[in-house]
Amino acid sequence: MVEALNITIKKVSKSNLPNIDFSNIIFGKVYSDHMFVADYVDGEWGNFCIVPYGKLTISPGTCALHYGQSVFEGLKAYKNEDSEVLVFRPYDNHRRMNLSAKRICMPEIPEEVFIGGLTELLKLDREWVPDVPGTSLYIRPFMFATDEYIGLKPSINYRFIIFTCPVGPYYSRPLKVKVEEHFVRAYPGGTGSAKVAGNYAGSLYPAKLAQEEGYDQLIWTDGFEHKYIEESGTMNLIFNIDDVLITPALDDTILHGITRDSVLTIARDRGMKVEERRISIDEIVEAIRKNTLKEAFGAGTAATIAHIKIINFEGIDYELPPVSIDFFSRKVFDILEKYRKGLLEDKFSWIVKIT
Ligand SMILES: *Cc1c(COP(=O)(O)O)cnc(C)c1O
Repeated sequence: MVEALNITIKKVSKSNLPNIDFSNIIFGKVYSDHMFVADYVDGEWGNFCIVPYGKLTISPGTCALHYGQSVFEGLKAYKNEDSEVLVFRPYDNHRRMNLSAKRICMPEIPEEVFIGGLTELLKLDREWVPDVPGTSLYIRPFMFATDEYIGLKPSINYRFIIFTCPVGPYYSRPLKVKVEEHFVRAYPGGTGSAKVAGNYAGSLYPAKLAQEEGYDQLIWTDGFEHKYIEESGTMNLIFNIDDVLITPALDDTILHGITRDSVLTIARDRGMKVEERRISIDEIVEAIRKNTLKEAFGAGTAATIAHIKIINFEGIDYELPPVSIDFFSRKVFDILEKYRKGLLEDKFSWIVKIT
């Protein structure tokens, strides 16, 4: 149990809920009524409040804007059949946020602030958690440096905010991806395994170039030889070769995805063979040629599972088998949805119910 926080609550005078068309929501553009805010001042977290979602006033000298001391998380909440709100693996997001924070000299967020703030926010905005199949409430916790100082050094003060967005059914169409052979997302010793803002800024230009060539995403490769697969966009990559699930082993160049871990846990639980190890592009191309590559997919909170239909490498488009209902990735998607909505016994202790 987490200790109760002393949170000041200022509610909206009128909810925006009646104005939302839940059957037609664009990801990340619709915000729930309230947000949780906390400030780190004089070495301590305080000023806990829940206020109407709204604009922040910051000075042009705010150091997060200049040097990127900013970390974020992404997780989801669902409703079960009794309309209770269930959050999927929030303690894992909390742990990861603190690892990200540490990597860029930011303070850790105590569990009672992260989980406690989230719980109170979801209690207040519970009506914003959609219950139509496939929908969920996306939760965005983030923290940034607030010192008004443009000398390069770690900020002394920080702000932590959680806001939420209802999201519609996210059916990702099968993706065309291109193996990146020039740009690098992460190096050993770098910040690749941290969810820090700068990583994403650096990925935009290479992704844009690939999009101009007609691809949806890049497959990032290792920074030394561009030979080993890392990940794609904001998803970890998983391959099914002859009914063995193969995914890059976790190191400091790969984001340690919670969806990835959930997929592997379910696979092992169902007796499937799982290998976490290095995978070269050559191995994948070889498996495509020999027809042993059954499926390739990305795993991440936003889409859960995104199938890959084309992998481009050295100018050649390699086509993967079309998605079929007996794909492991289809089954695991359904199973994950059932865990998230409380339709399967929570045997891995993934669910936190908001009461
Ligand atoms: C967030 C993220 C993922 C997926 O992590 P989940 O916890 O499954 O949402 C994978 N790769 C990158 C680079 C990410 O930022």
